[in-house]
Amino acid sequence: MEWSPIAKPRGAVRREPCLKDYEEARRTFSWDQAAAQLAGLPGGALNIAYESVDRHASGAARDRLAIRFLAQGADPHDLTFGELSAASHRFANVLKQLGVKRGERVATLMGRVPALYTTVLGTLAAGAVYCPLFSAFGPEPVKARLGLGAVRVLVTTDLFYRRKVAPIRAELPDLRHVLVVRTPGAGDVPEGTTDFDELMRTASPEYEVARTSPEDYALLHFTSGTTGKPKGVLHAHAAIVAHVATARWVLDLQDDDVYWCTADPGWVTGISYGVVAPLACGVGMIVDREEFDAPRWYEILDTQRVTVWYTAPTAIRMLMKAGVELAKARQYPSLRHLASVGEPLNPEAVVWGVEAFGLPFHDTWWQTETGAIMIANYPCMEVRPGSMGRPVPGVEAGIVHPRDDGGADEVAQPDEVGELALRPGWPSMFRGYLNEDERYRKCFRGGWYLSGDLAKRDADGYYWFVGRADDVIKAAGHLISPFEVESVLMTHPSVSQAGVIGVPDPVAGSAVKAFVELKAGQSASEALRKDILAHARRQLGVAVAPREIAFSEQLPRTRSGKIMRRLLRARELGLPEGDLSTLEGAP
Ligand code: ATP
Ligand code: MG
Repeated sequence: MEWSPIAKPRGAVRREPCLKDYEEARRTFSWDQAAAQLAGLPGGALNIAYESVDRHASGAARDRLAIRFLAQGADPHDLTFGELSAASHRFANVLKQLGVKRGERVATLMGRVPALYTTVLGTLAAGAVYCPLFSAFGPEPVKARLGLGAVRVLVTTDLFYRRKVAPIRAELPDLRHVLVVRTPGAGDVPEGTTDFDELMRTASPEYEVARTSPEDYALLHFTSGTTGKPKGVLHAHAAIVAHVATARWVLDLQDDDVYWCTADPGWVTGISYGVVAPLACGVGMIVDREEFDAPRWYEILDTQRVTVWYTAPTAIRMLMKAGVELAKARQYPSLRHLASVGEPLNPEAVVWGVEAFGLPFHDTWWQTETGAIMIANYPCMEVRPGSMGRPVPGVEAGIVHPRDDGGADEVAQPDEVGELALRPGWPSMFRGYLNEDERYRKCFRGGWYLSGDLAKRDADGYYWFVGRADDVIKAAGHLISPFEVESVLMTHPSVSQAGVIGVPDPVAGSAVKAFVELKAGQSASEALRKDILAHARRQLGVAVAPREIAFSEQLPRTRSGKIMRRLLRARELGLPEGDLSTLEGAP
């Protein structure tokens, strides 16, 4: 199926983008130059918290809005850069008082509340390592991550403590302190915990930010667990260099923007681009404390005058499911730039953005391991729907075939499928997998970092996602991209989401099986199944179209919204389901 490139956004707001000439930036850019744009600290030190808040708080931006918290039925709660800096310093003093040393780990388990943001920044200011835990995790995933990370301090709420931490606390010998944010009106904090607000009240707002070296560890993120057991990924303070550069070029963040990143701070996007990058750019942002709700989201985009919006395919598909009319019921006069990350962005969704908002979604590709956006569509370039775009200046990408002898060869031709690889050396590259050195080493071959994703590059240098190496289907000698099949299924008027896997076939090796979720108001029937099959055959041809289609009430997804094809496969084949800690809806 052919999609035409989208040359120019049709939205009302036009503005000179930060990145004006992609080719020129690729030629002239260096990471040293980007690092020199940051404030830095004496003696070559670099600290993410200092770059994110303190440098602004000590200057003209002190009273500028940093974060606006929105919650149902409550007035917005605003924090300025000055207030955020003072609160994070208080928290850094709390850690000092608790005897937390540099490099020790501090985790959060809570929703999008102000204390979370204070903890992130205060932990980094103190030179400790911050580790987010997704707030919907139950006791087992919490225990596994706190244990693996040898976390010293956990900040959580009284409710979460009672439900998720108290049952496993005795099994976490490294966890010395649990600080609890009390629910207003609730009684004393649970036994064995300390009152977060009480400690903060008595702590001083003055703190000299730790002079961390760019190579000191700053962040510990666990991956989404889409392909297996989540891995602990370590990042250093140097990552902020890439966060700022990519926030400017890809998200096009500029001084007076109102930015909204819908990713939860339990995951890497929610920290890199939901906390540090926008703050480091001195940009004010929206944090919505509520869960997804289509009318509410449109209201926020409209009434908060959001200018730049970074969201995810799963959210876009849910908005599409709710119908474009709902989107069109409001106006978005301030909206200027839309971007997406986390999963392949179907061409249908890119084009839907134009219909709903007058703007296309710009796909961006990266991973927990890369720490920052690596491949993207830019405001200054045409969007090719279905393509991830081109590597950010400073990043060299390639499509390679890893060899058994430890090397890797680049593909010979455009459009040839291989593994998406990056040349190491960008500042936010992960510095290790926690307790898994061998696994880390195996990611590098022939001078490349191998991403585990398959992709192709066209003759103009645009990258196209094919699938995760584990998910790609080999049928009768063809390499079939689940993404391509899913994208075509989604163009059927009744289908809202699709998950495609390979099932064993005695002749072809594998056959394509699709699981589809229907749009609101549609019901499953044999006639509809045949119609979807016919649609897929017309678009894809019989060799690639699914042989079988099953209706699914809800596809298994990770808590960050990614379709878990490995689980569809395991269930189909009656195999063990593996680690389910990040499955949406799991305890
Ligand atoms: P795990 O590594 O535990 O299996 P995960 O890979 O889903 O989980 P993340 O680091 O959160 O964990 O996700 C990165 C992956 O998400 C990428 O490797 C890729 O497969 C997918 N992804 C992210 N953005 C895009 C995109 N724009 N297009 C296609 N795939 C994407
Ligand atoms: Mg991964």
